[in-house]
Amino acid sequence: MVFNIQKFSLHDGPGIRTVVFLKGCPLRCKWCANPESQRMEVQILQGMEAERKGREMDVEGVVKACMQDWDFYEESGGGVTLSGGEPLAQAGFARELLAALGEKGVHRAVETTGFAGEEVFASVLGHVELVLFDVKHWDSRRHREGTGAGNEGILQNLRAAVASGKEVLPRIPVIPGFNDGLEDAAGFGRLLKGLGLGRAQLLPFHQFGESKYAGLGMEYAYAGVEPLHEEDLAAYQAAFTREGVDAFF
Ligand code: SF4
Repeated sequence: MVFNIQKFSLHDGPGIRTVVFLKGCPLRCKWCANPESQRMEVQILQGMEAERKGREMDVEGVVKACMQDWDFYEESGGGVTLSGGEPLAQAGFARELLAALGEKGVHRAVETTGFAGEEVFASVLGHVELVLFDVKHWDSRRHREGTGAGNEGILQNLRAAVASGKEVLPRIPVIPGFNDGLEDAAGFGRLLKGLGLGRAQLLPFHQFGESKYAGLGMEYAYAGVEPLHEEDLAAYQAAFTREGVDAFF
């Protein structure tokens, strides 16, 4: 169940990429910018024009769409990134798709929250060159408050990803009132450094998803909350540096 295939992405791994967004996510982050990605079934997003979100595709169809841009991947050092939702929620499909892309020599990345069983995580990890690992909070209690689940299994999978020797880039959505305090930055920094990770990408909170909540008939806990910008986060970034982690945007 795919809800978008976005071409020419420059932000989700190296080079020019195609990002395949799989529908379905077991977390419920209060700030989620893609609420249409959370449920596995097809949904209708009401608006000026009603949009159908989600369609069933087979591996062959997705590979074909991705391979249309092979020349761009080759020239730019790009490839395909599997995102969501949480792509591990469709682990069987994700594995098959990544394996098929690997056979064609495509560089593969997965963007994940790591919220899956160890075996499921390991089985997908085996088919990617890069893991973009979204870490929402270093503290499990706070993680549960914001997303509906603790982070113990997630951190276990993050450790496994690092131990695998695959390239791992932690990405932290910086969310007002949830993880944007300096003590949070220090907590993230200590966590990542302790895992042997020296870099992290910061993703400041934005409101691009706000209108979708009304279109789906969903409540939005972050309605009207001001977005964050790079320039607001200099002290936050510096707190990472003090812990030995290079945080960048
Ligand atoms: S993990 Fe991502 S897709 Fe899932 S609820 Fe959180 S922000 Fe949304």
